[in-house]
Amino acid sequence: MPANFKAELVACFGQPVAENPTGAMQEAAFAALGLNWRYLTVEVPPAKLPDAIRGMRAFGMRGANLTIPHKVAVIEHLDRIAPDAALVGAVNTVRREGDLLIGENTDGKGFLRGVRTTAGVDPKGKRVAVLGAGGAARAVLTELALAGAAHLLVVNRSIQRGEDMVSDLASKTRAPIEFQPWRDTWQVPEDTDLLVNATSIGLYPDVNALVPVDLSAAHAGMLVCDVVFNPPETRFLAAARRRGLPVLDGLAMLVFQGMIGFELWTGRQAPETVMAQALRAALGLV
Ligand code: NDP
Repeated sequence: MPANFKAELVACFGQPVAENPTGAMQEAAFAALGLNWRYLTVEVPPAKLPDAIRGMRAFGMRGANLTIPHKVAVIEHLDRIAPDAALVGAVNTVRREGDLLIGENTDGKGFLRGVRTTAGVDPKGKRVAVLGAGGAARAVLTELALAGAAHLLVVNRSIQRGEDMVSDLASKTRAPIEFQPWRDTWQVPEDTDLLVNATSIGLYPDVNALVPVDLSAAHAGMLVCDVVFNPPETRFLAAARRRGLPVLDGLAMLVFQGMIGFELWTGRQAPETVMAQALRAALGLV
């Protein structure tokens, strides 16, 4: 076989981007499968995003991740947007199909895969409460709506933001979805099957912040999820654990969204254990 020194390229574009650990997870996966692929973590300011996407095309790159502040701005530079990414209104992953660059959103899909495979819960027919109305909440809610959740309740501090998101998702997905403003400590309704913290409360460095929720009415099987992955054991999850409730941390979501990206780019099954271990090591958790 002739020598082949050409590597396939994937990148993460963001600003700031230096502390983004995704590259460690993806490079470990490429190495584990013997793929001559590279994942580059690249700082791209907003004004240079069009050039970065043109660069992707010029270099024949196989895909990319987009992070802050590019997830919405990238859409107009792509050739097609996957239907669920269009519903979310944001793209965190780009894949190549021939010469076309397709926008995907793997955040909500990664969350859903964690709920199904790690926690063993099928959201179909379940009553869900989501705290937050930002980008992560919207991605999670979109996939839960598409997965057939019976009822979605959104709780958010900013009333306008919460109401706008809920009316938009209601019109686009026809899911039964309702909004409640978040004042003081929020009481979780006893019929809730799945509770998700999709706010940034508890995110490093503010690790002592506790999501103001009263879990006392929760039924014993209510799954409690947090999207915050640094630290993975937030005070919110620790409080749920103390009550004996099943929990799913934000690290699972991050690993699964990365696995979905890997699979979209390479067409190969992503090595879950390798990726989870690389991510934990990159975050200094082992
Ligand atoms: P946004 O800035 O878009 O939204 C933040 C949300 O948190 C808003 O709903 C905001 O409410 C709420 N919030 C923040 N502080 C408070 C507070 N003190 N009290 C009440 N509500 C508060 O952020 P994202 O949605 O992009 O990210 C949210 C979290 O999700 C981050 O921690 C991020 O790291 C994590 N994330 C994790 C992923 C994973 O794979 N695990 C993937 C993507 C994100 P308001 O509208 O009132 O301001």
